[in-house]
Amino acid sequence: MVHASENDTSPAPFSADDSPIARELASLSARRRALEAVTVTFDGPTRVITVSNQKGGVGKTTTTVNLAAALASIGARVLVIDLDPQGNASTALGVPHTAETPSVYDVLIDEFPLAEVIQTSPESELLLCAPSTIHLAGAEIELVSQVAREHRLRTALEGYLEATDLAPDFIFIDCPPSLGLLTINAFTAADELLIPIQCEYYALEGLSQLLGNVQMIQKHLNRGLRLSTIMLTMYDARTRLAQQVADEVREHFPREVLETVIPRSVRVSEAPSFGQTVIAYDPSSAGAIAYREAAVEIVQRTERSTESEGTA
Ligand code: ATP
Ligand code: MG
Repeated sequence: MVHASENDTSPAPFSADDSPIARELASLSARRRALEAVTVTFDGPTRVITVSNQKGGVGKTTTTVNLAAALASIGARVLVIDLDPQGNASTALGVPHTAETPSVYDVLIDEFPLAEVIQTSPESELLLCAPSTIHLAGAEIELVSQVAREHRLRTALEGYLEATDLAPDFIFIDCPPSLGLLTINAFTAADELLIPIQCEYYALEGLSQLLGNVQMIQKHLNRGLRLSTIMLTMYDARTRLAQQVADEVREHFPREVLETVIPRSVRVSEAPSFGQTVIAYDPSSAGAIAYREAAVEIVQRTERSTESEGTA
């Protein structure tokens, strides 16, 4: 349940100065106060969200870890499954993922229980990660000859959710930039697909191929999968191109695109080198605030759709 104070009319502290930087700071501090006025409770079933886009470097991992940390910061229990052999999500969450670490590889190939590889991020007790290791690079090929090769992650997740008495409110799966068997396992295991779109030229290129693949998955492997969320990332307000890309994506996907746009921000890109998300690294930065707003929006959207289902 989400409650936001509608009548917070206290003046922003920087409003006396009218320079662009002062205006930006005033607006950030107003947004931060609006976020502080929001209270959220999590009592629904676990939402399993795959973060995917076969284009490389569009912000999949950054979106995954920062949304996960933002949700944990407002009280959700969140598990990130790192399904990319690069292990960037594990790094950003400060979780060890050397070659000897029990990882998602062992879950997919050797049927280790998922619970045995999950670690807690030093950032929050509510933030969990099933790390990837370099072994996962070979899994794409090893999976080919495995029984039920497209369902292995789903089976592991179902086993985990059945056995645990502390089920996460959200499970995010960070995918590699390809449409191979690892990504297919993520699609088969998830209820929802979140596509991050970088506000740059060529943003929409490849999207129809991705959506075509999603249709195939829906038809043959996971009827329940739906594209629930599109998130615009690396938005640079100074360029007209970013605005044009954002407008075009909103025109094509009016229901799926979040209102919140993630700005291009140095703080966001610096955070992983400290083994942190931007939520811990610089919680009052524009990037952290945007990710927290996106998190609240994602929670509020389901509430709305659940309410409208109830009244239908
Ligand atoms: P890959 O396809 O390799 O898995 P990806 O889609 O997961 O990449 P990221 O690793 O999240 O993309 O981001 C690519 C690069 O862009 C990284 O260096 C990251 O720090 C940077 N980046 C992502 N989001 C932002 C942002 N909002 N502001 C500035 N830099 C960003
Ligand atoms: Mg990535």
